[in-house]
Amino acid sequence: MQCDRCDAICEKEFYYSWFNADRICKKCRSLEEGDENYAACRAAEHEAVLRGDYNFSFSANYGKKKKDSSND
Ligand SMILES: [Zn+2]
Repeated sequence: MQCDRCDAICEKEFYYSWFNADRICKKCRSLEEGDENYAACRAAEHEAVLRGDYNFSFSANYGKKKKDSSND
């Protein structure tokens, strides 16, 4: 598959983002782990699971490529 963030090919090794539903490569995952909101995200995700909310998305647009602003 391809990383949802940086388009790197990650055949065997990919991760689900903590911030949203993206599937991301190892590099993007370590970027997440260094994010200033990472701890808050993990805590919020944990609370959501306790509520039974398994589709919790801390930040739906986190890491989204900014395609639609400049091209054309
Ligand atoms: Zn990536």
